[in-house]
Amino acid sequence: MLQHNTTALQGREQGFVAELDSYLAERGVASTTIQGDDGRANLVTSLDSGRAGPHLVFCGHCDTVPLGDREWKKSPFGGTVAGGRIYGRGSADMKGGLAALIASFLDLHARDDWSGRLSLAVTYGEETGSEGARLMASDGSLAPFDAMIIAEPTSNRAVRSHKGALWLSFTATGRTSHGSMPQMGLNALEMVVRFRQRLLELDALAASDPLLGRPTICLTRLQGGTQVNVIPDRAVAEFDMRTLPGQSHDDILAAIRTIAREIETEYEGGRIVVETINSLPALDTPAGSAIVRTALDIRHELGAPAGEAGGASYFTDGSVLQSLGADILILGPGDPGEAHQTDESLDLSDFLASRRIYTGMARRFLRSPE
Ligand SMILES: [Zn+2]
Repeated sequence: MLQHNTTALQGREQGFVAELDSYLAERGVASTTIQGDDGRANLVTSLDSGRAGPHLVFCGHCDTVPLGDREWKKSPFGGTVAGGRIYGRGSADMKGGLAALIASFLDLHARDDWSGRLSLAVTYGEETGSEGARLMASDGSLAPFDAMIIAEPTSNRAVRSHKGALWLSFTATGRTSHGSMPQMGLNALEMVVRFRQRLLELDALAASDPLLGRPTICLTRLQGGTQVNVIPDRAVAEFDMRTLPGQSHDDILAAIRTIAREIETEYEGGRIVVETINSLPALDTPAGSAIVRTALDIRHELGAPAGEAGGASYFTDGSVLQSLGADILILGPGDPGEAHQTDESLDLSDFLASRRIYTGMARRFLRSPE
């Protein structure tokens, strides 16, 4: 799995998915590949127990982030094992978790003591904004479900909520002039600076959540200006906002567009266009839901201390796939701090523990009525 380059925007998931399809076929499981644009692909397969019961889905993305600029000491596509760890891009986020889900899926395939339906859903393009999950949520390839486990790295802790993401671009158009005569121009970069200052005053940023803390907003890209003595007439800024469960992205956007209109009034003759790059809602699975309780019970039975499920600041495919079902739980091997790092690696004992947790959870959640 690690030897397939599925880095965002360069690697294509098709080869990975084709090999997974044959791997499952050799073990008697037929799967469906759903082609996306441009060499990308999702895979979905289901086991039907033949007995009535809930539908549980195992879900993981097969793309990874790029390698970054720093040199790797271990090959990023080697899958080298050393000192109880496996190295490679995606080992923690999240080919390790996906491998454990596949192993556990096959554990259930080999048994006949459960009820309901178990599906495996492998998505592409999660790291670039959940494009594969978006296709999966709309094309009918994955049936509505009762619960889903997403194997993002959480060090095998149960995570039941995460923030949403609202990515925005802001294009300011002003008027150029000589740098010595700024009064003749309209400085588009200064409009961006003003916009950022106003964004930090948004009411939505004052909200807070017991598991997730506060929303955030960051200026993450900025383009503008041609040379030091020219007032820039155009600037483009991008903002990454992370929101809380219950916050409406439409309401936040309406407030942001109002700010844009007010800045146009301050900079008479200037024009501002606000566009949405991506909008993914937050996830908030109830603490008392069956899948959360099952995760905590199984973890505890396998030796982890008792505790409650937590929250995460990053988003997952669960943002998009929650439209198909009810309760989504995030739990996977690997330290979340390893994700996206140079020389990314995964502790193999963490990996083995996650397979036991998944199999235990699936058997409990899909248990046959006594
Ligand atoms: Zn991930």
